[in-house]
Amino acid sequence: MRVAVIGAGIIGITTAYELAVDGHEVTVFERRSAAAEETSFANAGVVAPGYVTPWAAPGMPGKVISHLLSRHAPVKLAWPLSGRDLAWMWKWYQACKLDTYLVNRAQMQRLAFYSRERLHQLTDGLQLEYDRSPGYMVLLRSEKDSKLVQPSLQVLREAGVTFREINADEVRRIEPALNPDTAFLGAVHLPDDGVANCRQFALLLKNEALRIGVNFEFNTTAAQLDRAQAASILIAGEDTPRAFDQVVMCAGLASAALLRPLGLKIPMTAVYGYSISAPIREPLNAPRSALMDERYKVAISRLGNRVRVAGSAEIGGSLDTKRASSIQTLYKVLNDWFPGAAQHSNLGAHVQEWKGARPMLPDGPPIIGSSGLPGLWLNLGHGSSGWALSCGSAGAGGPDGGQARRNRHGRPWDRPIALVHVQPCRPKPQDECLVAVSA
Ligand SMILES: Cc1cc2nc3c(=O)[nH]c(=O)nc-3n(C[C@H](O)[C@H](O)[C@H](O)COP(=O)(O)OP(=O)(O)OC[C@H]3O[C@@H](n4cnc5c(N)ncnc54)[C@H](O)[C@@H]3O)c2cc1C
Repeated sequence: MRVAVIGAGIIGITTAYELAVDGHEVTVFERRSAAAEETSFANAGVVAPGYVTPWAAPGMPGKVISHLLSRHAPVKLAWPLSGRDLAWMWKWYQACKLDTYLVNRAQMQRLAFYSRERLHQLTDGLQLEYDRSPGYMVLLRSEKDSKLVQPSLQVLREAGVTFREINADEVRRIEPALNPDTAFLGAVHLPDDGVANCRQFALLLKNEALRIGVNFEFNTTAAQLDRAQAASILIAGEDTPRAFDQVVMCAGLASAALLRPLGLKIPMTAVYGYSISAPIREPLNAPRSALMDERYKVAISRLGNRVRVAGSAEIGGSLDTKRASSIQTLYKVLNDWFPGAAQHSNLGAHVQEWKGARPMLPDGPPIIGSSGLPGLWLNLGHGSSGWALSCGSAGAGGPDGGQARRNRHGRPWDRPIALVHVQPCRPKPQDECLVAVSA
């Protein structure tokens, strides 16, 4: 089949690769001049399936409100807040109910574990070399942090995840460069999880996709899709739509605007986050792998010869306006734990400060599978876990429902995500099929 993929972020690249492996003739349209230039560019890189859970969780609204006014708050509101942001927040609030949370969490984790397996298969099978380090630790500054983390540990137990609660001495043995002056209680150590460079992986897999025949058209914007012929794409600057047998929408945050004229209203909003990436000054003072400061929800990762610090969840505002205090929080957390690890800009070294927009659905799981319109498939809305979910998402949806991949991998795999998020703007009979795919 002739299949078009819109978007060359981590989701589009993994999707295009899997489709080509299954024997399809694939063309990827990307508006930027290279792959992984938007949200997949400089994320924290954490791949920890047990921690892939919805942000819509019981107790979260109270936590968010109590944080809002503090200087280093992990969640912030910025102006202007759009009507879409407010509607999104209301849906998020409703999805915090326990029953909804449990269903969403189960779906996300199932996908995340499969995804990690597929990531390792691809990495080993294709001998991909990119910056990565094994192991993940959630740092607990105090008894209070330890208490707050207990529900997550129960989730890990139920999911059969290998982890240990360890004291500060043990933490220091695993991460000897931790600041000796920072007192803390301990950590949760997950030896099977880790951190890896999402963008590097995307670029390497793009090359593999090219090798097996995928056609990439960069600097090419998909301007419009037609409800009557959803597998035809009008490219910006062209007069005639290009026809395909199937189209997979992987345009991240931009997907919602492209789908709206087709009658598909996706409740997705941008939840902004920040990262700084700095060259390591002295490897002995740097982290060995990935750590999460549970109090500030900031991740510190070792990515090759750089250290990356990422965090913050900002609703409202815009991608172009960086909030200085959010970036200061990243420097503060890095300094608390690994002073001297990185070359800061005041030493004349290049520090990359980045703001990215998580393509976030209110309740958590991404939308993967049929749009309900003939020939149009969706793989979008991966929020804060798109890297951890990417390889699994690519294998779970798509024009043949991932059947060929299921057969090849010899494991049963249903499309994991119910399409409950999609609400037709103008209800019509054919939209009724957008209700549920088996979970
Ligand atoms: C600060 C931060 C930290 C994060 N940390 C982690 C983490 O530790 N682990 C994790 O798993 N995830 C993490 N994430 C989330 C992860 O980065 C995202 O979920 C993921 O990158 C989304 O990938 P995507 O391919 O859907 O979107 P994108 O990477 O944004 O790709 C979409 C692509 O579509 C293209 N496009 C859009 N519109 C069009 C059009 N009309 N025509 C052609 N092309 C188009 C865009 O140019 C873009 O390249 C983090 C995110 C942030 C912001």
